[in-house]
Amino acid sequence: MSRQPIRVLAALPARDWAEWRPALARAFAEAGLRVEMAREMAPAAVDYILYMPGSGPEDFRPYAKAKAVLSLWAGIEGIVQDETLTQPLTRMVDPGLKEGMRDYVVGHVMRAHLGMDADICRRDAGWQPHVPPLARDRRVGVLGLGALGGFCASALAGLGFQVLGWSRRRKALAGVTCHTGAQGLQAVLSRAEILVLLLPLTAATENILSTETLALLPKGATLINPGRGALIDDAALLAALDSGQIGQATLDVFRTEPLPADHPYWTHPKVTVTPHIASATRPESAAEAIAENIRRSEAGETLLHLVDRSAGY
Ligand code: NDP
Repeated sequence: MSRQPIRVLAALPARDWAEWRPALARAFAEAGLRVEMAREMAPAAVDYILYMPGSGPEDFRPYAKAKAVLSLWAGIEGIVQDETLTQPLTRMVDPGLKEGMRDYVVGHVMRAHLGMDADICRRDAGWQPHVPPLARDRRVGVLGLGALGGFCASALAGLGFQVLGWSRRRKALAGVTCHTGAQGLQAVLSRAEILVLLLPLTAATENILSTETLALLPKGATLINPGRGALIDDAALLAALDSGQIGQATLDVFRTEPLPADHPYWTHPKVTVTPHIASATRPESAAEAIAENIRRSEAGETLLHLVDRSAGY
């Protein structure tokens, strides 16, 4: 245990702090770390910064001795280009986030696969049996095979779906046909009857679903986006929904959040809007991930889940 306490700035909104504080205190104690933490602290005294979008420091330069900035969120597109941030930046990977995302993705894939909407709306339609195909006869594409996408792709493969995945570097995941590059993207899109977006938002992934790429999908495909709103060209998606090229879209993330009240997605009959709830960082498990990274840093070990600033994620 170090002699001086480790000073952690947890720049969180008050409502989050109430939940995070006991979870962090417990995790630091379990990791054998003596930590002084607060929502406000003299910048020069800070050893680590816990960051949440919208409430963290806007200028990191005064935090001259801070050893790392630890994001409590998985998505770091709002901070990754910040030129005042010169310290190592880590993103959140924790079991709660992964399990929450798996539940959301499996639930919405199952909804599309089984045609649940038709059943729910059947009341007046009478007795018209429609037997859905088996999961093994359904092709699901997953763009992004990282902590979340890889976990979801494996879960879908475990249920028997034919899963096609796409990532920047080649992956090997049991039961998942993994692709990379422009040709790989084409291969996934041309087969995916249900497509899940779990890419980070970077210069290379913005508008990855455009008029051209949406046209590659099988007609009537279902789109599920719990990644980031700007992965999709919204006008292109609305046109593809209207033409029937896309049969249904479930969207959890948007260019502007909350989604503006007059946005066409709210009223489009083929769109389901969920309010950025696909998965959330749960303090109980996430605090352990934070404590482990601070422990590693203090022990001179490499931090986990370091952001590659040049790749943007
Ligand atoms: P990771 O960084 O672990 O994974 C990202 C994946 O995307 C990797 O497989 C990566 O490839 C791939 N990728 C990145 N850029 C490209 C590219 N240009 N071409 C092809 N593949 C690319 O992130 P997570 O899985 O932890 O999270 C993914 C995203 O999910 C987050 O960035 C965030 O936006 C979103 N999210 C949404 C939440 C919600 O509630 N809606 C909650 C949490 C996260 P490679 O493996 O080769 O690096």
